[in-house]
Amino acid sequence: MSDRPLAAVRPAPRSPRRATLALALAAVAFATPPQGAPGYTDTPLLPDGKWCVHDSRRPQPRVVAPGAMHGPAAAPADALVLFDGTDLSRFTGGDGPARWKVGDGYAEVNGTGDIETLDAFGDCQLHLEWCAPVPAAGESQGRGNSGIYLMQRYEVQVLDCFDNKTYPDGQAAALYGQKPPLVNACRPPGEWQSYDILFEAPRFDGEKLVKPARVTVLHNGVVVHHAQEYIGPTSHRDVGVYSPHPDRLPFRLQDHGNPVRYRNIWIRPLGQYDAP
Ligand code: MG
Repeated sequence: MSDRPLAAVRPAPRSPRRATLALALAAVAFATPPQGAPGYTDTPLLPDGKWCVHDSRRPQPRVVAPGAMHGPAAAPADALVLFDGTDLSRFTGGDGPARWKVGDGYAEVNGTGDIETLDAFGDCQLHLEWCAPVPAAGESQGRGNSGIYLMQRYEVQVLDCFDNKTYPDGQAAALYGQKPPLVNACRPPGEWQSYDILFEAPRFDGEKLVKPARVTVLHNGVVVHHAQEYIGPTSHRDVGVYSPHPDRLPFRLQDHGNPVRYRNIWIRPLGQYDAP
């Protein structure tokens, strides 16, 4: 072993030609998705300064098999049940009643457009279950795509990410275009999956953002976001910017053209324990 001080060990000087070659190789490595994920490299840079929106080069969340789920999770006594599997009367299709297909205990996206709650919510605990279509059809963002737009603008992505590679910030449970889930806890298509979402609405003082929206999400009982802030409203190929909005707004379920199913949707508005 050498007793030469480490600081004295210097790499041999590089020739300009070798340096150019190294730079060229690095550029190729940067431009090529290392894991072959679909996505983009020509979109705006996210505030983290590392990745652009829908960056295909971003590391893929590791896969975690969730524990077994034994039927729908029963709602707590004080929850507001928004969909119990029988009717969508608490939702609107925008210009009238929600027209998604209601089957035996589920509602299914059918190309009639997004639906949203008639009630408005701010801070809340939201539970819902969703199921990706079988057989799995399409790939990347085209497979079992839907989503939950909290306050009509902050999406938690729904996507069949079981053996379906896509850009990490567009995965199931991603804050779409902003933050990939900590892990990929997807079940196979055709199996019911749960989201438990603890959402904190953003706070505004007049035109000024005082506190960004924040969310904790459990996907099939696995934490995939922990008090994660939204950069702004979620967007495709863009970085959303906050603009003031009411304290409470409906949430929306996305019709992305894939027959994703939902069931067991309930919500608990959150406040201080001693507030009405
Ligand atoms: Mg979506």
